[in-house]
Amino acid sequence: PVDRSPEIQEARLKLPILAEEQVIMEAINENPIVVICGETGSGKTTQVPQFLYEAGYTSSNGIIGITEPRRVAAVSMSQRVAKEMNLSHRVVSYQIRYEGNVTDETQIKFMTDGVLLKEVQKDFLLLKYKVIIIDEAHERSMYTDILIGLLSRIVPLREKKGLPLKLIIMSATLRVEDFTENTRLFAVTPPVLQVDARQFPVTVHFNKKTPLDDYSGECFRKVCKIHRMLPSGGILVFLTGQAEVHSLCRRLRKAFPFQKNNDDDRKESVEEMRKFKKSRRRRKAATLPQINLDNYAVVPVDEGDEDRDAETDDDIAGSDVDLDLGDGDSEEDSSLPLYVLPLYSLLAPEKQAKVFRPPPPGTRLCVVATNVAETSLTIPGIKYVVDCGKVKKRFYDKITGVSSFRVTWISQASANQRAGRAGRTEPGHCYRLYSSAVFMDFEKFSAPEITKRPVEDLILQMKALNIEKVINFPFPTPPPAEALAAAEELLIALGHPQGQKHGLKEQQAAKLSCPISPLGRVMATFPVAPRYAKMLALSRQHDCLPYTITIVSAMTVRELFEEFDRPAASEEETVKLKGKKGRLVQMQRIWAGQGSLQKLGDLMVMLGAVGACEYSGCTPKFCEENGLRYKAMLEIRRLRGQLTTAVNSVCTDAGLYVDPKMKPPTEAQATYLRQIVLAGLGDHLARRVQAEELLDDKWKNAYKTALLDDPVFIHPSSVLFKQLPDFVVYQEIVETTKLYMKGVSAVEPEWIP
Ligand code: ADP
Ligand code: MG
Repeated sequence: PVDRSPEIQEARLKLPILAEEQVIMEAINENPIVVICGETGSGKTTQVPQFLYEAGYTSSNGIIGITEPRRVAAVSMSQRVAKEMNLSHRVVSYQIRYEGNVTDETQIKFMTDGVLLKEVQKDFLLLKYKVIIIDEAHERSMYTDILIGLLSRIVPLREKKGLPLKLIIMSATLRVEDFTENTRLFAVTPPVLQVDARQFPVTVHFNKKTPLDDYSGECFRKVCKIHRMLPSGGILVFLTGQAEVHSLCRRLRKAFPFQKNNDDDRKESVEEMRKFKKSRRRRKAATLPQINLDNYAVVPVDEGDEDRDAETDDDIAGSDVDLDLGDGDSEEDSSLPLYVLPLYSLLAPEKQAKVFRPPPPGTRLCVVATNVAETSLTIPGIKYVVDCGKVKKRFYDKITGVSSFRVTWISQASANQRAGRAGRTEPGHCYRLYSSAVFMDFEKFSAPEITKRPVEDLILQMKALNIEKVINFPFPTPPPAEALAAAEELLIALGHPQGQKHGLKEQQAAKLSCPISPLGRVMATFPVAPRYAKMLALSRQHDCLPYTITIVSAMTVRELFEEFDRPAASEEETVKLKGKKGRLVQMQRIWAGQGSLQKLGDLMVMLGAVGACEYSGCTPKFCEENGLRYKAMLEIRRLRGQLTTAVNSVCTDAGLYVDPKMKPPTEAQATYLRQIVLAGLGDHLARRVQAEELLDDKWKNAYKTALLDDPVFIHPSSVLFKQLPDFVVYQEIVETTKLYMKGVSAVEPEWIP
């Protein structure tokens, strides 16, 4: 029996899904697989696990697992459910890539889809689970799609063993045909339960004209209008990225000042610092992460959270958001306090939690959010939605793999989701900052992630699961043939002669329909993408492993350095940011070292930064002073620990450990490291265009790659910008104002095969 507080009980009873408890539980009891569709906010995520718990699904050894495509949701939903059930976090827990609070007592476990995929590799039948709930299936994240494919096979296998597993697929929108009408996936169509949400009517207002680009300014004007003219009720604004969110928050706070707002924020930052220090102290005692090899398999590289990328890339995207310059912001109106809160994935959880609490008396709540508010989190009391109609996404070129962040129109399904946020508690209004004609041109649904990105890491992981014929895998929607072919080529290239040169046993090039090669199997045990795994596999000589591990860790964690090109709130802040940027540039030059070290380029800067940071004890203070992102440094530390364990388990005589006082590599080691990097990034080679072949001005200082017709460049912020080597390899190409190579390292011409 669950002992809920009266307030919680009352709030629950208002949720439409409560009326469906019996129907849902009967369907689950009678069918191995059930699909539940319901409006966002109807109570799927918070209530279905509770129904199962109360029906006794956890009582005879076996737990309930729930996957979320976003880390934010996994963490905050586990906390919410624990609170509703009056149970400890030891019982209702979460696990995301690097952190979690799962214990032996855990009965309900929220996790990212990537974490469950990793568990399948350890225990294909997922025997510790009685029930798996795949939440937010409509988001069609790559790992969610793969899990559904795997589970379609796992469920019958468990049935045969006499240890049945229940699979519940939950989705916000009605587009479930890819799951239900795909007979390769589910031979027997699972029942689809529809939860009717108590949705109040939402009046949709289209703009007559669609603003060309200043949608942030348009949002500002619309919120001002709503706040001045319309009755009480919360406002939710959808924007595309973190910088935009902050700019609009600042601008709105300035227009409708609210004293407590500022005081609170100041108090809060003091409080946060205190907590931060406390957690640091606790962490120190643990020093290096303890990694249990039994819990260890292939960790997906970019677990979940694509929006994490999207939200941090504001510098890369070169979006010159400076919204503070708008006219007409100057008139302040303190008679109308607006309680403005930001909401995005990277925001600290305690700050995210603020949106769930009622605003201070006499104020109106205004949440400025990215896509996370579309379906993952439901904010109470919203009556007005302002929808800019855009979303920021990472796009990959199918053939070249070149990625760029682009702000694009959302789908009609997304627009309707966003509008729906306004009608949860009473009739509401949605202001779309685009015309109805533009809306009609939106695609109906956004495409599944798996059809949009390179799949080589995915395929290697599937091979590690002994899924040899990837082509035959029951994908809800298969990746395009050319993406599979490109992945095949890359994997073959990575298992090729380069290995022999370094004394590695050469294996036959493995076709995708063939079994995984032994080198491939070693590579698959490393929790990183194939090209990085290859670098690790080649690093035994010259004691290079600790360096390669560090470089690979740093390369997989995004955004090591703070971003100082952001819009500043004041003159004073502008000066401060400039100073910090100068300091970072200076430090990067120091971290880059000299001679052969310097030729390792951006990768040496990463290596130097991590080395220096760890040497100083990896404190928030050191990071703050030197322009490093503390969270990134902690992630690198964990990944170094994890990779070190992985390597030790393959090379039992390596005896590696993570040295906090790691010395810089020697000249000879740096040279060898550059060769290792070339082995992993060999298909990412670029040659400097010589003066005599200059066709026109756009090729000045440019590089030529095998795959692209257009010139690519070394970014001015790179330590290699001043020397522009004749040959380089790069980690990736990101398109902003030009095609820029990121993670660049110099290569000697005689090394090129
Ligand atoms: P769904 O999964 O169907 O979108 P949820 O189960 O996430 O719905 O949410 C159900 C309700 O619970 C929402 O109306 C929301 O307001 C409320 N809720 C969810 N999380 C919290 C929280 N952390 N604090 C307060 N209320 C919450
Ligand atoms: Mg949900």
